[in-house]
Amino acid sequence: MPQQPDSAVHEARIAGVAVDTRHWIGGRRVASADTFPDLSPIDGSTLARIARGGPTEAEAAVAAAKAAFPGWAATPRAERARILHAIADGVEKRLEELAIVETTDNGALLRSHRRGVMPRVARNFRFFADRLPALGHEDFTTHTGGPAAPGHTNHVSWDPAGPCVLITPWNAPLMLATWKVAPALAAGNTVVLKPAEWSPLTASLLADIAAEAGLPPGVLNVVQGHGAEIGDDLTSHPDVRRIGFTGSVATARRIAASAAPNLTPLSLELGGKSPLLVFADADLELAVDLAVEQFDNAGQVCLAATRLLVEESIADAFTERFVAKAARLRQGDPREEATDIGPTIHPRQIERIDGFVRRAVAAGARVVFGGGSHARLGGLYYRPTLLTDVAQDSEVVQEEVFGPVLTLQTFVDEAEAVHLANDTRFGLAATLATGDHRRAERVTAQLVAGTVWVNCFFVRDLRAPFGGSRLSGVGREGGAWSFDFYCDLKNRVLAPKGFHDHG
Ligand code: ADP
Repeated sequence: MPQQPDSAVHEARIAGVAVDTRHWIGGRRVASADTFPDLSPIDGSTLARIARGGPTEAEAAVAAAKAAFPGWAATPRAERARILHAIADGVEKRLEELAIVETTDNGALLRSHRRGVMPRVARNFRFFADRLPALGHEDFTTHTGGPAAPGHTNHVSWDPAGPCVLITPWNAPLMLATWKVAPALAAGNTVVLKPAEWSPLTASLLADIAAEAGLPPGVLNVVQGHGAEIGDDLTSHPDVRRIGFTGSVATARRIAASAAPNLTPLSLELGGKSPLLVFADADLELAVDLAVEQFDNAGQVCLAATRLLVEESIADAFTERFVAKAARLRQGDPREEATDIGPTIHPRQIERIDGFVRRAVAAGARVVFGGGSHARLGGLYYRPTLLTDVAQDSEVVQEEVFGPVLTLQTFVDEAEAVHLANDTRFGLAATLATGDHRRAERVTAQLVAGTVWVNCFFVRDLRAPFGGSRLSGVGREGGAWSFDFYCDLKNRVLAPKGFHDHG
């Protein structure tokens, strides 16, 4: 691979933290002939130039993962678990550095990274390491079948699958990456991680941390680059045994097509257009809080309940309180403790978000709150926005905006609420505010969604399944489901007799 003549471009200094911007392949740093700029959404400045990987780097990374696989797969589980805990220790030790680099790179709140996200990154490793002993084997003894069948032991084991390609998005970069990296490594697989080009930095730090923790070379590889430029060669590679992807539906389709010739198994965590159903019997303050919470991370959350569906009889009271509360949200520099909403990741996203709002308004929507960028903070800071008078079949109700834009529609009864809630092509999540537990039972049974929250939002036990229905995804991750995906299950059927050395 050609080396960059100027080695200085390979290191970025982010708030004093050194970040190597080259790939990490087979336990060493590798440059590319080309680089691309990485911008900070805080002020639009260029933070670093990142190695721009392509087919050569894809091939090298998969080859490194393939070469490292037999050794890592044969490493005893207790030793794999020990190294995963050591990675978690490293994350905790460098927590402040990871938090500031992530905030500078993707604009999400520093206080969330410090207190919620980075501790969760460490937990992702500990959680899957601690589950390894339970991931053993299961035995079944046949009692029925033909005369020869009784007494046969079926011994089922969860075996490592091989090199995994993990492709992750920019909205919660290290959290979502490690949610896949940790179970894949714990299961005994090797990994090629491709972080998003708009937030590539913390993945590079993770490579350092993993190496310091003693993860052998080639077990975790990190490649940088622009989507398809490197992605197609990763996802179409015949040596890749699993593809884990979190991102957009359009990219998921392309990845599925690229993986199709090899029938490589995919786990796809995609977008959503999730509803928040507010019934007249709900605690109104709680419902308003749940609605305002949807502006977290400037709305750049796949799970966000972006469609507020409110019972008509309380719609005015709800809207009034919502507007009062949303008006108190402080938008600004995500590094400041008092900030509630930071910037949007990239100027291209701002254009996209504003396009949705402008087209909605042209189609008759009313802007109740927000709309457009913040006058003082500038173009990258899109204001929290609420639209009403939107038709169910309109673009802004049906398509994922992925920004701080909510729509509000009303319903007259439970049947209409459920109909509106389910009437999109997505099925990631749904949230319900109601004071009636029978209603909660009825409605949650009818909602099409991978996760349904009742009078709460975003909390989840890591042992529970996570994923979406319809266009929101394929498969489930979390707890045992992650291991089911990242393992090859094998059934060994042993006859009751036939061995000479029994006894
Ligand atoms: P968004 O549109 O929200 O940026 P994407 O789905 O395009 O989301 O991006 C998620 C991840 O998918 C990023 O890491 C991106 O580089 C990667 N990606 C984009 N296109 C491809 C592709 N054709 N093959 C593999 N990865 C891709």
